[in-house]
Amino acid sequence: LKVTITEVPVPVAYGPAFEGERVRKDDVYLECGGGKTPCVELVRIADMDKVEDGKVEVIGPDIKDVQPGSRLPLAVVVEVAGRRMQEDYEPILERQIHHLVNYAQGVMHIGQRDIAWYRIGKAAVEKGFTLEHIGKILHAKFHQDFGAIFDKCQVKIYTDEAKVKEWVPVAQKVYKERDERIEGMTDETTETYYSCILCQSFAPTHVCVVSPERTGLCGAYNWLDCKASHEINPTGPNQPVNKGECLDPKLGNWKGVNEFVEMASRGAVKSVNFYSVVYDPMTTCGCCECIAAVLPMCNGIMTVNREYMGMTPCGMKFTTLAGTIGGGLVTPGFVGHAKYNITQRKFIVGDGGIKRMVWMPKMLKEEIRERLIRRGEEVGVPNLVDMIATEEQGVTEDEILPFLQEVGHPALSMEPILG
Ligand code: SF4
Ligand code: ZN
Repeated sequence: LKVTITEVPVPVAYGPAFEGERVRKDDVYLECGGGKTPCVELVRIADMDKVEDGKVEVIGPDIKDVQPGSRLPLAVVVEVAGRRMQEDYEPILERQIHHLVNYAQGVMHIGQRDIAWYRIGKAAVEKGFTLEHIGKILHAKFHQDFGAIFDKCQVKIYTDEAKVKEWVPVAQKVYKERDERIEGMTDETTETYYSCILCQSFAPTHVCVVSPERTGLCGAYNWLDCKASHEINPTGPNQPVNKGECLDPKLGNWKGVNEFVEMASRGAVKSVNFYSVVYDPMTTCGCCECIAAVLPMCNGIMTVNREYMGMTPCGMKFTTLAGTIGGGLVTPGFVGHAKYNITQRKFIVGDGGIKRMVWMPKMLKEEIRERLIRRGEEVGVPNLVDMIATEEQGVTEDEILPFLQEVGHPALSMEPILG
């Protein structure tokens, strides 16, 4: 194992070698997010005179104020300023938090945005790691990797519950605005898609190819973000992919994309369909926001979001699903995707589209309700949102089928999903 310790002022070893490392439950000193406490990450552009470069503030209790095995809410807010900094670059810096924090030995980071999950291990705390170091890491690495696009960076780390609760809706509003910038663009009229291989350190054969109508499965990188990232770093993880000849318009299969994926996955993946969960779906890595699965008996599909801890009608909880399919291989019948992608027009359109959706957790349905209603209207089923079962109707196919029949769910009269 090659350990490169870069110039990052933390009391633990730091480098890509520690990226995939887990902190087990019994070894946790402090845990934030992961569905147990609110947790958000936000990078925002700010005025030059409002940012003091290198300043890191912890607002609320830090490690020294809590007992081993504690949990705290967390908001990591990074403000960056500089003449070349643009709002379009915010999501790109923000998405780096995941691997940059993971590089610290004994610190685990999963997810992003408002589903981030931090675990700081007892061993790291013994060496002197505190929450302030998260800010130190981001300041040092942002300068090192993105120094060309900004001049100053400061970090505020909130663990004060009331303050975190103020930040959550602020961050969610920003995420929503970013997601919606892509609305109006279509896959048909876009010749160049973008790759993302940021997650290959966790899932070595995983390649996201991001098109306007298929946001990256982490939900944090859409086509515009990949394009901006490529502009900042032309030899980086986001490369333009000329989609080339269309081999299957229904399933979303292009010659140029397949060639790129084969190369970027080092031969492991030869063909992927953008719009199908049934046939050669895209690969999935561990940071997907949701996982969709085929429900043969209901002739449809379900999806489950990371925050939902319960059982689902495909017989697996989210964690089991992620563990099974999150390794970067094509798994027919299952696919990771972003929350936003559910209401994009191309979502599993090769398998029949949103009309196939028969189950999702209630919390997810509430979160995307507005857009789901709009999509239902677009596909001619205005009350689709109320026909989708949740855990209230059941968590097995047997339990939800009578409900689907009662409400006349459109999936039941579609052609067999497994043809
Ligand atoms: Fe990139 Fe995909 Fe990983 Fe998101 S999930 S960071 S789009 S590789
Ligand atoms: Zn990933």
